[in-house]
Amino acid sequence: AELDTLDILVLGVILLGTFAYLTKGTLWAKQKDPYANAAYLNGNAARAGKTRNFVEKMEESGKNCIIFYGSQTGTAEDYASRLAKEGKSRFGLETMVADLEEYDFDAMDTLPSDKIAFFVMATYGEGEPTDNAVEFYEFINGDDVAFSQGGEDAPLDNFHYVAFGLGNNTYEHYNSMVRDVDRLLTKYGAHRIGNAGEGDDGAGTMEEDFLAWKEPMWAALAAHMGLEEREAVYEPVFGITVREGLTPQSPEVYLGEPNKMHLEGAQKGPFNAHNPYIAPIAESYELFKVKDRNCIHLEIDISGSTLSYTTGDHIAIWPTNAGDEVDRFLRITGLTDKREQVISVKALEPTAKVPFPTPTTYDAIVRYHLEIGAPVSRQFVSTLAAFAPNEEIKTEMTKLGSDKDYFHEKTGSQLLNIARLLEHVGNGETWDKIPFSAFIEGLTKLQPRYYSISSSSHVQPKKISVTAVVESSMVVGRQDPFRGVATNYLLALKQKQNGDPEPSPFGLTYELHGPRNKYDGIHVPVHVRHSNFKLPSDPAKPIIMIGPGTGVAPFRGFIQERAQQAREGINVGRTILFFGCRKSTEDFMYESEFEEYKKALGDKFELVTAFSRESSKKVYVQHRLKERSAEISDLLSQKAFFYVCGDAANMAREVNTVLAQIIAEGRGVSESKAEEIVKNMRAANQYQEDVW
Ligand code: FAD
Repeated sequence: AELDTLDILVLGVILLGTFAYLTKGTLWAKQKDPYANAAYLNGNAARAGKTRNFVEKMEESGKNCIIFYGSQTGTAEDYASRLAKEGKSRFGLETMVADLEEYDFDAMDTLPSDKIAFFVMATYGEGEPTDNAVEFYEFINGDDVAFSQGGEDAPLDNFHYVAFGLGNNTYEHYNSMVRDVDRLLTKYGAHRIGNAGEGDDGAGTMEEDFLAWKEPMWAALAAHMGLEEREAVYEPVFGITVREGLTPQSPEVYLGEPNKMHLEGAQKGPFNAHNPYIAPIAESYELFKVKDRNCIHLEIDISGSTLSYTTGDHIAIWPTNAGDEVDRFLRITGLTDKREQVISVKALEPTAKVPFPTPTTYDAIVRYHLEIGAPVSRQFVSTLAAFAPNEEIKTEMTKLGSDKDYFHEKTGSQLLNIARLLEHVGNGETWDKIPFSAFIEGLTKLQPRYYSISSSSHVQPKKISVTAVVESSMVVGRQDPFRGVATNYLLALKQKQNGDPEPSPFGLTYELHGPRNKYDGIHVPVHVRHSNFKLPSDPAKPIIMIGPGTGVAPFRGFIQERAQQAREGINVGRTILFFGCRKSTEDFMYESEFEEYKKALGDKFELVTAFSRESSKKVYVQHRLKERSAEISDLLSQKAFFYVCGDAANMAREVNTVLAQIIAEGRGVSESKAEEIVKNMRAANQYQEDVW
């Protein structure tokens, strides 16, 4: 009965939150992402029905350290909770982790000087805040920031903080969130403790950057707050209780359903990052003509939902872990026999959040809620050493956890996931002494994967196309390639839909029917994320699109839209697509469709191809772009929009460089001036990127 009251409260807050969101949407048109506010739904503050004032919240719950995170893919959130655990276990700090969107910041100036706030901030896309950090960033970066106690010169003089950023140096605005937040806090008189750390995903050093930053930071913080370091003792954050009276058939047991509405059978919107829509897949097929590489096209039917999209948006797919990896995890942790046991998971302290609904089963948690496929972090290895099956293994785990080079030499470079690492180090022993709480704390939540929608909302408003290449990468030192979580799941769905009774891409099996067979008839959980990657509002404007490989996805949507407009007699501007792949006979996707679009668009449409493996010299899209310098330059002077989609690491950079060269030559300006022009084009949305 206690649960029921709580749920009613949550529902009430959901309604209130929805109302607040709806009214805000109309009052402040500035709101970039309509989903930014939706997370109130599952929010901690919302659940407690309490304050959005974090200083009050800390006061109430006896905390002296709050760790805020701005997270898009879960890594920043994971780092925040690791810092919280470490602060508590090593230094006795009373820590709490906090989602930035669950609090207001006008009372920042009331944080007493003996308390500390951490900001763990990921930078997203083109130097933007993550969805959950939008409001905080708009507040602190606003022109008229008003703190609760008024505006002296240094309103945040009492405010002490620690900062770490997660970024990617292949993007232009590297780590701009943490840099901006640090600058703005300093501007208002706040005091940073330690360096503002920066992790670089582009160089693949995020984890090591984080580990290297935090030691001196802890030393500085300990000195500042007068903390004594103690022998770190593991204290579980979550308590697990076996629910003897319940079985997996009991109606209140979650078997992978994302929330109560889904458990009770009714899917209700709004559908968003906390509440997916279980969508039927109308159609699925493969786009490549070769055997060992796979690229899937899906048509996802959203007609039964309140979901909508516009051309250029992203769709998120909520994957299920492969059965083989689930089995491996349960086997090595000694949970195979208990996999169907019903358990409740409760946070042992009031500010922690259980990241999935319970009562549930170990099987459901591991299959639907934990990112068990990701490479295990060195810090987590260190935490688990204490629970090794014997002393010898414990010594090895401790060494792996503490010695960076040893870790990389022995396991790190193989990017082993948690279960594979435990198998590797464990010499056939079972790791049944690890408290299950450690996995909930140490592993990221299973993340939805985003895909650039490859259809036009003008042409098919209720059907979303997805173009996804199946991830399979060789890893040095490992015999079997790494298989991507979401894309192999999609491949299995495609196989099933096309008549394979027992789909098993590369031998992997999946529970495609979902919890309580709710995904039967080929369904997949999804939500839509709105993006700023958009066609010009005037169809007569010329557009230049650079989209090799799956980077072609959003451009298929763009061209589909323009072809339809042309059929409707609308004047459509020049539409050029630069597409690249290995061979015209292997991975030239949508080849025949483009011919259809050409019929509608005539000379307005041109497809320029670059096949990298058809001649001795590798030809890429940027080379083709260069060959067209004069024409591109001319189109840009007619205010053509320029779009790049696909690989962020190499292609997008090189295209950027070539574009600057084209502008330099075309206008007779220096390359640095041309780069300046490209920057301005970005700022004016004339140059848009959708890269990953
Ligand atoms: P994951 O399991 O997430 O693995 C991803 C990569 O991480 C692997 O390739 C591998 O290199 C590495 N990796 C992870 N764990 C391990 C491990 N244990 N060992 C070794 N390597 C590991 N993709 C498309 O195909 N089409 C699109 O249109 C598209 N649009 C996107 C739009 C946006 C805005 C973003 C952010 C991404 C987009 N992506 C797109 C990429 C997509 O979201 C996924 O990242 C991709 O499909 C891989 O997902 P996955 O779950 O199969 O692989």
